[in-house]
Amino acid sequence: MLDRSTIWPYEDGEPGEFYYQRNGHPAGLAAERALGELEGGDALLFPSGSGATTALLLAFLEPGKTVAVAQDAYYGTPTLMRELERWGLRVVEFDQTGPPPQEADLVWVESPSNPLLTLPDLEAAVAHPAPVVVDSTASTPVYLKPLERGADFALHSATKFLGGHDDVLLGAVVCASEDDYERLKEFRSRSGVVAAPDPAWLLARSLETLELRMERHTANATEIARRLEAHPSVECVRYPGFGGLMSFDVAGGGEAARRVETSAGRVKNATSLGGTRSVLETRARWEAGRVPENLVRLSVGLEDVDEIWADLEHALAG
Ligand code: PLP
Repeated sequence: MLDRSTIWPYEDGEPGEFYYQRNGHPAGLAAERALGELEGGDALLFPSGSGATTALLLAFLEPGKTVAVAQDAYYGTPTLMRELERWGLRVVEFDQTGPPPQEADLVWVESPSNPLLTLPDLEAAVAHPAPVVVDSTASTPVYLKPLERGADFALHSATKFLGGHDDVLLGAVVCASEDDYERLKEFRSRSGVVAAPDPAWLLARSLETLELRMERHTANATEIARRLEAHPSVECVRYPGFGGLMSFDVAGGGEAARRVETSAGRVKNATSLGGTRSVLETRARWEAGRVPENLVRLSVGLEDVDEIWADLEHALAG
């Protein structure tokens, strides 16, 4: 049963495992244990992926420190980091297919990046003396366990594939070291950047089907990528060969891409990714200048692959 209590009675006059929800609650701990087991580390939940990013930066960096972030990371990540420049954080962007810059005090890569689908050079990243964060939202632990590859933190927008049903906003950080886990947990309790029981419960539900869902995302997306590549109205397809996230460029520029997104029916014209239903959108509306105007991001869902394709073919015909 989902326990939504904010308080639990002390045991023999002292706080027990749970006593005040901001410090921890049973649904959160259950979901954290399940995710930690999948990743091989100690997990902490946050109210969104962006909340997880904020907490990690504030807990481990201080004014004058430099975060080196992959230049094609999810656009909200460097944008959030630039927000924190007012508090003395220094931000440098770098090409994650090569080594991070020397001056980094924290290295931040994304595997694969959203929506350009580049993969970081993880060996070069972990060879850097600074701690390494891998945002593995689009890989999930089914395809990448960053801690096993030497990273210090795996970060997720659990709103995407981990939650998987477009019904939960949540973030997670998985720590390799117990000291980092304790530090981040302390910061979370103090700052109050805490995930509530309901989304935590939904995440635990979703993790039970994660592997099955990811297999189906991959099977569908692999086939859709193959068909898109052969389509005359598609200039290029970016797909790493696993997971449900891809992007493609539509021949004819931004106007043509806008026609594709608004002509789709079953594949909804919506943001986000990682749900059971396919969604697509042109990304220039959010991150003009960082991505081609004719780039369409597609999150391939779990539907029948021929039905997804029929809709895309119709949309591409315009
Ligand atoms: N990281 C990646 C790779 C994302 O795609 C997103 C959101 O799209 C985030 C982080 C931020 O997560 P949230 O929307 O849960 O705050």
